[in-house]
Amino acid sequence: MQRSTITASEPDENGHWGKFGGRYVPETLVAPLDGLTKEFTRARQDPDFWREFDQRLRDYCGRPTPLFHAHRLTAHAARAQVYLKREDLCHTGSHKINNAVGQALLARRMGKHRIVAETGAGQHGVATTTVCGMFGLQCIIYMGAEDMQRQALNVFRMRLLGAEVIPVNAGTRTLKDAINETLRDWVTNVHDTYYLLGSALGPHPYPLLVREFQRVIGREAREQILSAAGKLPRALIACVGGGSNSIGLFHPFIGDPSVRLVGVEAGGRADSLGQHAARFHSAAASGGGCVGVLHGTMSYVLQNEDGQIANTHSISAGLDYAAIGPEHAYLHDGGRAEYIRASDGEALEGFRLCAELEGIIPALESSHAIIPAIRIARELPQSDAIIVNLSGRGDKDVQLVAELN
Ligand SMILES: *Cc1c(COP(=O)(O)O)cnc(C)c1O
Repeated sequence: MQRSTITASEPDENGHWGKFGGRYVPETLVAPLDGLTKEFTRARQDPDFWREFDQRLRDYCGRPTPLFHAHRLTAHAARAQVYLKREDLCHTGSHKINNAVGQALLARRMGKHRIVAETGAGQHGVATTTVCGMFGLQCIIYMGAEDMQRQALNVFRMRLLGAEVIPVNAGTRTLKDAINETLRDWVTNVHDTYYLLGSALGPHPYPLLVREFQRVIGREAREQILSAAGKLPRALIACVGGGSNSIGLFHPFIGDPSVRLVGVEAGGRADSLGQHAARFHSAAASGGGCVGVLHGTMSYVLQNEDGQIANTHSISAGLDYAAIGPEHAYLHDGGRAEYIRASDGEALEGFRLCAELEGIIPALESSHAIIPAIRIARELPQSDAIIVNLSGRGDKDVQLVAELN
Protein backbone atom coordinates (compact mmCIF):
# COMPACT_ATOMS: atom_id res chain seq x y z
CA MET A 1 0.00 0.00 0.00
CA GLN A 2 1.04 3.56 -0.70
CA ARG A 3 2.63 5.25 2.33
CA SER A 4 0.58 8.13 3.55
CA THR A 5 1.85 11.32 5.10
CA ILE A 6 -1.59 12.17 6.50
CA THR A 7 -1.46 12.07 10.29
CA ALA A 8 -4.35 14.37 11.11
CA SER A 9 -7.31 15.58 9.16
CA GLU A 10 -8.53 19.08 9.92
CA PRO A 11 -10.03 21.15 7.13
CA ASP A 12 -8.92 24.75 6.55
CA GLU A 13 -11.17 27.55 7.73
CA ASN A 14 -13.28 27.31 4.58
CA GLY A 15 -13.86 23.63 5.08
CA HIS A 16 -11.39 22.29 2.52
CA TRP A 17 -9.48 19.06 2.93
CA GLY A 18 -7.02 19.64 0.11
CA LYS A 19 -9.19 20.38 -2.91
CA PHE A 20 -12.20 18.60 -1.43
CA GLY A 21 -15.06 19.99 0.63
CA GLY A 22 -15.72 23.72 0.66
CA ARG A 23 -19.01 25.39 -0.05
CA TYR A 24 -20.50 25.42 -3.54
CA VAL A 25 -23.86 27.00 -2.85
CA PRO A 26 -26.12 29.80 -4.06
CA GLU A 27 -25.59 33.21 -2.47
CA THR A 28 -28.68 32.83 -0.29
CA LEU A 29 -27.13 29.95 1.65
CA VAL A 30 -23.88 31.70 2.51
CA ALA A 31 -25.17 33.71 5.49
CA PRO A 32 -26.98 30.76 7.14
CA LEU A 33 -23.90 28.56 6.69
CA ASP A 34 -21.67 31.29 8.13
CA GLY A 35 -23.97 31.59 11.12
CA LEU A 36 -23.86 27.87 11.68
CA THR A 37 -20.07 27.78 11.36
CA LYS A 38 -19.70 30.55 13.91
CA GLU A 39 -21.98 28.83 16.41
CA PHE A 40 -20.34 25.45 15.93
CA THR A 41 -16.87 26.95 16.41
CA ARG A 42 -18.03 28.47 19.68
CA ALA A 43 -19.77 25.29 20.84
CA ARG A 44 -16.73 23.20 19.98
CA GLN A 45 -14.68 25.14 22.52
CA ASP A 46 -17.35 25.09 25.21
CA PRO A 47 -16.90 22.30 27.77
CA ASP A 48 -20.54 22.68 28.87
CA PHE A 49 -21.70 21.88 25.36
CA TRP A 50 -19.74 18.62 25.30
CA ARG A 51 -20.77 17.79 28.83
CA GLU A 52 -24.43 17.94 27.85
CA PHE A 53 -23.72 16.04 24.61
CA ASP A 54 -22.03 13.21 26.53
CA GLN A 55 -24.78 13.15 29.10
CA ARG A 56 -27.57 12.86 26.50
CA LEU A 57 -25.67 10.16 24.65
CA ARG A 58 -25.28 8.23 27.88
CA ASP A 59 -28.75 8.62 29.40
CA TYR A 60 -30.87 8.75 26.26
CA CYS A 61 -28.99 6.88 23.54
CA GLY A 62 -27.35 4.19 25.68
CA ARG A 63 -23.68 5.03 25.19
CA PRO A 64 -21.02 3.83 25.44
CA THR A 65 -21.95 1.07 23.03
CA PRO A 66 -20.10 -2.19 23.69
CA LEU A 67 -17.11 -3.44 21.74
CA PHE A 68 -17.98 -7.11 21.37
CA HIS A 69 -15.39 -9.81 20.82
CA ALA A 70 -17.14 -11.88 18.14
CA HIS A 71 -15.79 -15.32 18.98
CA ARG A 72 -17.67 -17.29 16.36
CA LEU A 73 -16.93 -14.88 13.51
CA THR A 74 -13.32 -15.05 14.71
CA ALA A 75 -13.43 -18.84 14.62
CA HIS A 76 -14.96 -18.64 11.14
CA ALA A 77 -12.08 -16.43 9.94
CA ALA A 78 -9.68 -18.69 11.88
CA ARG A 79 -7.08 -15.92 12.26
CA ALA A 80 -7.18 -12.36 13.69
CA GLN A 81 -9.63 -11.50 16.47
CA VAL A 82 -12.81 -9.87 15.18
CA TYR A 83 -14.45 -7.18 17.32
CA LEU A 84 -17.81 -5.55 16.58
CA LYS A 85 -18.51 -1.95 17.61
CA ARG A 86 -22.17 -2.19 18.55
CA GLU A 87 -23.75 1.01 17.17
CA ASP A 88 -26.80 -1.17 16.46
CA LEU A 89 -27.54 -0.92 20.18
CA CYS A 90 -28.00 2.86 20.07
CA HIS A 91 -31.51 4.18 20.66
CA THR A 92 -33.42 4.09 17.34
CA GLY A 93 -31.04 1.40 16.08
CA SER A 94 -28.08 3.12 14.49
CA HIS A 95 -25.25 5.62 14.87
CA LYS A 96 -27.43 8.35 13.29
CA ILE A 97 -28.72 9.44 16.70
CA ASN A 98 -25.24 10.63 17.79
CA ASN A 99 -25.26 13.31 15.12
CA ALA A 100 -28.93 14.14 15.65
CA VAL A 101 -28.35 14.83 19.35
CA GLY A 102 -25.32 17.03 18.63
CA GLN A 103 -27.06 19.12 16.00
CA ALA A 104 -30.25 19.47 18.05
CA LEU A 105 -28.10 20.92 20.84
CA LEU A 106 -26.62 23.35 18.29
CA ALA A 107 -30.11 24.32 17.08
CA ARG A 108 -31.17 25.03 20.64
CA ARG A 109 -28.07 27.19 21.22
CA MET A 110 -29.00 29.15 18.11
CA GLY A 111 -32.58 29.65 19.34
CA LYS A 112 -34.07 27.70 16.40
CA HIS A 113 -37.17 25.72 17.29
CA ARG A 114 -38.11 24.40 13.85
CA ILE A 115 -35.98 21.54 12.50
CA VAL A 116 -35.93 20.37 8.90
CA ALA A 117 -34.15 17.23 7.71
CA GLU A 118 -33.91 14.97 4.68
CA THR A 119 -34.18 11.24 4.85
CA GLY A 120 -33.61 8.39 2.39
CA ALA A 121 -34.62 5.11 3.97
CA GLY A 122 -35.97 6.92 6.99
CA GLN A 123 -33.24 6.13 9.53
CA HIS A 124 -32.01 9.71 9.79
CA GLY A 125 -35.61 10.93 9.76
CA VAL A 126 -36.49 8.68 12.68
CA ALA A 127 -33.38 9.73 14.64
CA THR A 128 -34.11 13.42 14.02
CA THR A 129 -37.78 13.12 14.90
CA THR A 130 -36.88 11.27 18.09
CA VAL A 131 -34.40 13.88 19.22
CA CYS A 132 -36.83 16.69 18.38
CA GLY A 133 -39.31 14.95 20.66
CA MET A 134 -36.79 14.88 23.47
CA PHE A 135 -35.98 18.58 23.07
CA GLY A 136 -39.51 19.74 22.25
CA LEU A 137 -38.63 21.02 18.78
CA GLN A 138 -40.91 21.13 15.74
CA CYS A 139 -39.83 18.62 13.10
CA ILE A 140 -40.35 18.52 9.33
CA ILE A 141 -38.92 15.65 7.31
CA TYR A 142 -38.53 15.71 3.51
CA MET A 143 -38.58 12.31 1.89
CA GLY A 144 -38.69 11.21 -1.75
CA ALA A 145 -42.15 9.94 -2.69
CA GLU A 146 -40.56 6.78 -4.04
CA ASP A 147 -38.71 6.20 -0.76
CA MET A 148 -41.91 6.84 1.20
CA GLN A 149 -43.53 3.97 -0.60
CA ARG A 150 -40.57 1.64 -0.07
CA GLN A 151 -40.19 2.58 3.60
CA ALA A 152 -43.80 2.97 4.69
CA LEU A 153 -43.10 1.67 8.19
CA ASN A 154 -40.52 4.37 8.87
CA VAL A 155 -42.94 7.01 7.58
CA PHE A 156 -45.52 5.76 10.06
CA ARG A 157 -42.88 5.73 12.80
CA MET A 158 -41.93 9.37 12.14
CA ARG A 159 -45.56 10.47 12.13
CA LEU A 160 -46.15 8.57 15.37
CA LEU A 161 -43.24 10.50 16.89
CA GLY A 162 -44.85 13.76 15.87
CA ALA A 163 -43.05 14.73 12.65
CA GLU A 164 -44.61 16.18 9.54
CA VAL A 165 -43.36 14.05 6.64
CA ILE A 166 -43.46 15.86 3.29
CA PRO A 167 -43.24 13.81 0.07
CA VAL A 168 -40.82 15.08 -2.59
CA ASN A 169 -41.98 14.44 -6.14
CA ALA A 170 -39.08 16.04 -8.02
CA GLY A 171 -36.42 14.13 -9.97
CA THR A 172 -36.07 10.45 -9.14
CA ARG A 173 -38.16 11.06 -5.97
CA THR A 174 -35.36 9.78 -3.72
CA LEU A 175 -32.71 11.06 -1.28
CA LYS A 176 -30.93 13.46 -3.64
CA ASP A 177 -34.20 15.27 -4.34
CA ALA A 178 -35.12 15.31 -0.65
CA ILE A 179 -31.83 17.09 0.17
CA ASN A 180 -32.54 19.75 -2.48
CA GLU A 181 -35.99 20.34 -1.04
CA THR A 182 -34.71 20.59 2.54
CA LEU A 183 -32.12 23.18 1.49
CA ARG A 184 -34.89 25.14 -0.20
CA ASP A 185 -37.02 25.12 2.96
CA TRP A 186 -34.04 26.17 5.07
CA VAL A 187 -33.21 29.18 2.89
CA THR A 188 -36.83 30.33 3.01
CA ASN A 189 -37.27 29.93 6.77
CA VAL A 190 -33.77 30.44 8.11
CA HIS A 191 -34.86 32.92 10.80
CA ASP A 192 -36.40 30.16 12.92
CA THR A 193 -35.25 26.98 11.17
CA TYR A 194 -32.25 24.66 11.56
CA TYR A 195 -31.25 22.13 8.87
CA LEU A 196 -30.20 18.91 10.59
CA LEU A 197 -28.19 17.10 7.89
CA GLY A 198 -27.73 13.36 8.23
CA SER A 199 -24.23 12.49 7.03
CA ALA A 200 -20.69 13.86 6.74
CA LEU A 201 -21.45 15.65 3.47
CA GLY A 202 -22.97 18.86 2.13
CA PRO A 203 -21.46 22.35 2.32
CA HIS A 204 -19.05 23.48 5.07
CA PRO A 205 -19.45 23.19 8.09
CA TYR A 206 -21.62 20.04 7.85
CA PRO A 207 -18.91 17.48 6.99
CA LEU A 208 -16.84 18.77 9.92
CA LEU A 209 -19.58 19.01 12.51
CA VAL A 210 -21.14 15.65 11.66
CA ARG A 211 -17.72 14.05 11.99
CA GLU A 212 -17.15 15.71 15.35
CA PHE A 213 -20.46 14.29 16.63
CA GLN A 214 -19.72 10.80 15.27
CA ARG A 215 -16.14 10.74 16.57
CA VAL A 216 -17.52 9.34 19.80
CA ILE A 217 -17.58 5.95 18.04
CA GLY A 218 -13.83 5.93 17.45
CA ARG A 219 -12.96 7.48 20.80
CA GLU A 220 -14.82 4.74 22.64
CA ALA A 221 -13.53 1.99 20.35
CA ARG A 222 -9.91 3.07 20.90
CA GLU A 223 -10.22 2.92 24.66
CA GLN A 224 -12.16 -0.35 24.53
CA ILE A 225 -9.76 -2.20 22.23
CA LEU A 226 -6.73 -1.05 24.24
CA SER A 227 -8.32 -2.46 27.34
CA ALA A 228 -9.60 -5.67 25.66
CA ALA A 229 -6.64 -6.54 23.43
CA GLY A 230 -3.88 -4.51 25.05
CA LYS A 231 -2.93 -2.92 21.74
CA LEU A 232 -4.25 -1.05 18.74
CA PRO A 233 -6.22 -2.94 16.09
CA ARG A 234 -4.60 -3.67 12.72
CA ALA A 235 -7.66 -2.58 10.77
CA LEU A 236 -10.97 -0.75 11.09
CA ILE A 237 -13.69 -1.73 8.64
CA ALA A 238 -16.87 0.29 8.10
CA CYS A 239 -19.49 0.72 5.39
CA VAL A 240 -19.53 4.10 3.61
CA GLY A 241 -22.71 5.80 2.44
CA GLY A 242 -22.24 9.54 2.93
CA GLY A 243 -19.44 8.55 5.25
CA SER A 244 -20.47 9.44 8.81
CA ASN A 245 -20.21 6.14 10.71
CA SER A 246 -16.89 5.37 9.02
CA ILE A 247 -15.28 8.78 9.58
CA GLY A 248 -16.53 8.69 13.19
CA LEU A 249 -14.72 5.40 13.75
CA PHE A 250 -11.62 6.23 11.68
CA HIS A 251 -10.85 9.73 12.84
CA PRO A 252 -9.34 9.06 16.28
CA PHE A 253 -6.98 6.54 14.60
CA ILE A 254 -5.75 8.64 11.67
CA GLY A 255 -2.50 9.41 13.47
CA ASP A 256 -1.80 5.69 14.04
CA PRO A 257 -0.12 4.52 10.80
CA SER A 258 -0.24 0.86 11.89
CA VAL A 259 -4.05 0.92 11.76
CA ARG A 260 -5.52 0.30 8.31
CA LEU A 261 -8.69 2.30 7.64
CA VAL A 262 -10.95 0.38 5.28
CA GLY A 263 -14.18 1.85 3.92
CA VAL A 264 -16.64 -0.45 2.16
CA GLU A 265 -18.82 1.02 -0.57
CA ALA A 266 -21.92 -0.51 -2.11
CA GLY A 267 -20.90 -2.63 -5.09
CA GLY A 268 -24.56 -3.15 -5.96
CA ARG A 269 -25.48 -5.71 -8.61
CA ALA A 270 -22.97 -4.87 -11.36
CA ASP A 271 -19.99 -2.66 -12.26
CA SER A 272 -21.74 -0.50 -14.82
CA LEU A 273 -22.83 3.04 -13.99
CA GLY A 274 -26.24 3.07 -12.36
CA GLN A 275 -25.91 -0.39 -10.85
CA HIS A 276 -23.82 0.46 -7.75
CA ALA A 277 -22.82 3.29 -5.40
CA ALA A 278 -19.03 2.76 -5.40
CA ARG A 279 -17.78 6.28 -5.99
CA PHE A 280 -14.08 5.39 -5.85
CA HIS A 281 -14.24 2.34 -7.99
CA SER A 282 -15.15 2.98 -11.53
CA ALA A 283 -13.02 6.07 -11.98
CA ALA A 284 -12.87 7.04 -15.65
CA ALA A 285 -13.80 3.59 -16.95
CA SER A 286 -17.46 3.48 -17.93
CA GLY A 287 -17.96 7.07 -16.71
CA GLY A 288 -18.04 6.31 -12.99
CA GLY A 289 -16.97 8.28 -9.95
CA CYS A 290 -14.80 11.32 -10.55
CA VAL A 291 -14.19 14.65 -8.86
CA GLY A 292 -17.20 16.91 -8.95
CA VAL A 293 -19.75 18.80 -6.87
CA LEU A 294 -22.98 17.51 -5.37
CA HIS A 295 -25.02 19.21 -2.66
CA GLY A 296 -22.51 21.97 -2.11
CA THR A 297 -19.33 19.97 -1.60
CA MET A 298 -16.43 18.91 -3.83
CA SER A 299 -15.77 15.20 -3.71
CA TYR A 300 -15.98 12.04 -5.78
CA VAL A 301 -19.34 11.85 -7.52
CA LEU A 302 -20.92 9.22 -9.74
CA GLN A 303 -21.78 11.07 -12.92
CA ASN A 304 -22.00 10.48 -16.63
CA GLU A 305 -19.71 12.01 -19.28
CA ASP A 306 -21.81 15.19 -19.35
CA GLY A 307 -21.54 15.65 -15.59
CA GLN A 308 -25.14 14.59 -14.95
CA ILE A 309 -25.49 12.92 -11.55
CA ALA A 310 -25.84 9.20 -12.18
CA ASN A 311 -28.48 6.93 -10.76
CA THR A 312 -27.19 4.57 -8.12
CA HIS A 313 -28.24 1.21 -6.77
CA SER A 314 -27.66 -0.66 -3.54
CA ILE A 315 -29.63 -3.30 -1.72
CA SER A 316 -29.27 -1.00 1.30
CA ALA A 317 -30.92 2.40 0.99
CA GLY A 318 -28.41 3.95 3.42
CA LEU A 319 -25.50 3.43 1.00
CA ASP A 320 -27.42 4.44 -2.09
CA TYR A 321 -26.00 7.94 -2.75
CA ALA A 322 -24.02 9.33 -5.70
CA ALA A 323 -21.38 11.24 -3.69
CA ILE A 324 -19.18 10.60 -0.68
CA GLY A 325 -18.16 12.94 2.15
CA PRO A 326 -15.18 15.16 1.22
CA GLU A 327 -12.90 14.02 4.03
CA HIS A 328 -13.04 10.50 2.61
CA ALA A 329 -12.02 11.83 -0.81
CA TYR A 330 -9.01 13.43 0.88
CA LEU A 331 -8.07 10.30 2.84
CA HIS A 332 -8.46 8.26 -0.34
CA ASP A 333 -6.26 10.47 -2.51
CA GLY A 334 -3.67 10.77 0.27
CA GLY A 335 -3.53 7.01 0.60
CA ARG A 336 -4.39 7.05 4.31
CA ALA A 337 -7.65 5.13 3.90
CA GLU A 338 -8.53 2.32 1.48
CA TYR A 339 -11.91 1.88 -0.13
CA ILE A 340 -13.20 -1.43 -1.35
CA ARG A 341 -16.66 -2.57 -2.33
CA ALA A 342 -19.03 -5.34 -1.43
CA SER A 343 -21.82 -6.42 -3.77
CA ASP A 344 -25.48 -6.85 -2.85
CA GLY A 345 -24.81 -10.60 -2.73
CA GLU A 346 -21.85 -10.24 -0.36
CA ALA A 347 -23.89 -7.96 1.88
CA LEU A 348 -26.63 -10.61 2.09
CA GLU A 349 -24.00 -13.23 2.87
CA GLY A 350 -22.59 -11.03 5.66
CA PHE A 351 -26.11 -10.39 6.98
CA ARG A 352 -26.78 -14.13 7.30
CA LEU A 353 -23.35 -14.98 8.67
CA CYS A 354 -23.57 -12.41 11.45
CA ALA A 355 -27.10 -13.50 12.35
CA GLU A 356 -26.23 -17.20 12.40
CA LEU A 357 -22.88 -17.01 14.14
CA GLU A 358 -23.36 -14.16 16.58
CA GLY A 359 -27.10 -13.80 17.13
CA ILE A 360 -26.94 -10.26 15.80
CA ILE A 361 -28.99 -9.17 12.79
CA PRO A 362 -27.06 -6.26 11.28
CA ALA A 363 -28.47 -3.53 9.04
CA LEU A 364 -27.87 -4.32 5.36
CA GLU A 365 -25.61 -1.25 5.29
CA SER A 366 -23.39 -2.64 8.05
CA SER A 367 -23.59 -6.11 6.47
CA HIS A 368 -21.41 -4.81 3.62
CA ALA A 369 -18.44 -4.70 6.02
CA ILE A 370 -18.65 -8.30 7.26
CA ILE A 371 -17.32 -10.41 4.37
CA PRO A 372 -14.45 -7.96 3.63
CA ALA A 373 -13.60 -8.03 7.36
CA ILE A 374 -13.39 -11.83 7.35
CA ARG A 375 -11.06 -11.61 4.35
CA ILE A 376 -8.82 -9.09 6.14
CA ALA A 377 -8.82 -11.15 9.34
CA ARG A 378 -7.60 -14.17 7.35
CA GLU A 379 -4.47 -12.27 6.28
CA LEU A 380 -3.46 -11.40 9.84
CA PRO A 381 -1.98 -13.44 12.70
CA GLN A 382 -4.21 -14.70 15.50
CA SER A 383 -2.62 -12.27 17.97
CA ASP A 384 -3.95 -9.26 16.03
CA ALA A 385 -7.36 -7.63 16.26
CA ILE A 386 -9.66 -5.86 13.83
CA ILE A 387 -12.79 -3.79 14.48
CA VAL A 388 -15.91 -3.86 12.33
CA ASN A 389 -18.38 -1.02 12.79
CA LEU A 390 -21.85 -2.48 13.15
CA SER A 391 -23.50 0.82 12.26
CA GLY A 392 -27.09 -0.33 12.74
CA ARG A 393 -29.47 -3.16 13.45
CA GLY A 394 -31.27 -5.10 10.78
CA ASP A 395 -34.89 -5.20 11.98
CA LYS A 396 -35.77 -2.72 9.24
CA ASP A 397 -34.34 -5.09 6.60
CA VAL A 398 -35.78 -8.42 7.68
CA GLN A 399 -38.82 -8.14 5.45
CA LEU A 400 -36.77 -7.20 2.40
CA VAL A 401 -34.48 -10.18 2.93
CA ALA A 402 -37.47 -12.46 3.48
CA GLU A 403 -38.97 -11.35 0.16
CA LEU A 404 -35.73 -12.26 -1.65
CA ASN A 405 -36.04 -15.89 -0.55
C1 LIG B 1 -27.50 5.81 7.10
C2 LIG B 1 -26.77 4.57 7.47
C3 LIG B 1 -25.50 4.27 6.94
C4 LIG B 1 -24.80 5.11 5.91
O1 LIG B 1 -24.51 6.41 6.29
P1 LIG B 1 -23.06 6.90 6.69
O2 LIG B 1 -23.22 8.36 6.80
O3 LIG B 1 -22.12 6.50 5.61
O4 LIG B 1 -22.72 6.25 7.98
C5 LIG B 1 -24.86 3.12 7.38
N1 LIG B 1 -25.44 2.29 8.26
C6 LIG B 1 -26.67 2.54 8.79
C7 LIG B 1 -27.23 1.57 9.75
C8 LIG B 1 -27.37 3.68 8.40
O5 LIG B 1 -28.59 3.89 8.92
